[in-house]
Amino acid sequence: MGFCERCVKKSEALEVHHLTYERFGHELDSDLQALCHPCHKEADAERKKALEREAEACKTDVRFKRWLLRKYGKFGTPPANAEELFEDEDEDEDWEDSDDE
Ligand SMILES: [Zn+2]
Repeated sequence: MGFCERCVKKSEALEVHHLTYERFGHELDSDLQALCHPCHKEADAERKKALEREAEACKTDVRFKRWLLRKYGKFGTPPANAEELFEDEDEDEDWEDSDDE
């Protein structure tokens, strides 16, 4: 018996939710939350969404670097506001391809 850390309701069966798996196996107290079942499901969905957002941001970053390279070349100096000029062309190319040398 305890209290859910999210909805603060009393629950018979609290479940351990990982806020992060970074220290899986030797978690800090702050990595874990005791949640009731409905909250645990919600929290897992939120963590998944956050990870997907992170992956998307990383993808954009790679696109930005490739675009810089294409536009200004390896030794060109991009303007300070390059990020504003950046057109995030939604190419269907595999962005994990190695850069052309
Ligand atoms: Zn709850």
